[in-house]
Amino acid sequence: MKRLGVLEWILIGFVVGIIVGAMVGKPITVIKPLGTLFINLLKMLVVPLIFSTLAVGVSTFTGEKLGKMFGKTFFFYYFTGALAMVIALIIAGISGAGIGFPVGELKKIEVKPMPSLVDVGLAIVPTNPVESLAKGDALPIIFFAIVLGMSIAAAGKVAEPLKNFLEALAETMYKLVSYVLWYGPIGVFALMATTVGTYGLGVLKPYAYLIFLVYLGTAIQAFGVYAGLLRIFKIRPYHYLNKIKEASIFAFTTCSSSATLPVSMRVTRDAGVSNETCSFVLPMGATVNMDGTGMYQAISAVFLANAFGIHLTFYHYMMIGVVALLASIGTAGVPGAGLIMLSMVLGAIGVPLEGIAIIAGVDRIMDMPRTAVNVTDDMVAAVLVAKSEGEKLPDDLLVGKAIA
Ligand code: ASP
Repeated sequence: MKRLGVLEWILIGFVVGIIVGAMVGKPITVIKPLGTLFINLLKMLVVPLIFSTLAVGVSTFTGEKLGKMFGKTFFFYYFTGALAMVIALIIAGISGAGIGFPVGELKKIEVKPMPSLVDVGLAIVPTNPVESLAKGDALPIIFFAIVLGMSIAAAGKVAEPLKNFLEALAETMYKLVSYVLWYGPIGVFALMATTVGTYGLGVLKPYAYLIFLVYLGTAIQAFGVYAGLLRIFKIRPYHYLNKIKEASIFAFTTCSSSATLPVSMRVTRDAGVSNETCSFVLPMGATVNMDGTGMYQAISAVFLANAFGIHLTFYHYMMIGVVALLASIGTAGVPGAGLIMLSMVLGAIGVPLEGIAIIAGVDRIMDMPRTAVNVTDDMVAAVLVAKSEGEKLPDDLLVGKAIA
């Protein structure tokens, strides 16, 4: 019999986790630390991995290539983001989600005021890069890695030792990722068992429709929109999605794009996308590209507006779409961040912020598919940017070529 690989074990951990969680219920939460350990192991790799790979990647680009990569990456991010919003709003609009939902007695909740756009922009430039690295602030690290990479290229020969050092660090980190993956089956098992054990089916019932709509929307985005785009670019859609599914499953179970980043970088690279493209497209995507989160925010906003009896006009729908897209960009890649940012969308259409308390209890269940889509989206962007840049992709990814 063929020995099972790490992916098979992860799938087993996933399924067994669901079964055990459903059978044992709440007491299974004693194994929660096993899941937390897994997330910590992944997070441990994020900062050195994105910093080293991005700086090395950028140092190999010319100025013109860098500009093109930026343009393409962001065009793709916001093009799919806009499609995600349209799908989410159509689904939420025609489903009448939330109408008649008992809003009952609400607890007052505190929502922190949003920082201004100028402050957000300024915060991207680190005043102290070492501090940003120590705190793990993704955007300032990305900024510093990009300018460092450009300067390494400009400095030429003298900077070669630094480049070699960063290259060595990057490869070592990738190696470490493969070790951490071996803990994946246990980590995934623990995370799934505790999630299912905590919620049980009873708690979900009143929210079943909302949850269903979020799963439906995100599934259409993944298997319809992304698969369609891959096909247009002559990449075998389901073959590629299958190759990268390890990262999608990790995202589903950890509910954190940023913790999943080491895995998404590894599987995308293993699928045949170059180091440079992976290191450029994926870290940025994990921070600013969150189609799944935007969809969830749009669907939840419509649900809550209906629950509060607010009549939604076409203008409201447009507002929800635009603000949810912006809110998703500002959402951090950690569990539950999208729920906090939902306040921005609710505020924009006049839904009481207490609405957040209504769905907070079941947010984790909706965090899973949205994070999986957030991460899948980045990996699809990576292969499409690679293809459009003329990278030589393995034959098995290409339509019309034989699978090896
Ligand atoms: N958990 C999501 C992520 O990490 C963010 C969110 O809460 O929507 O991608």
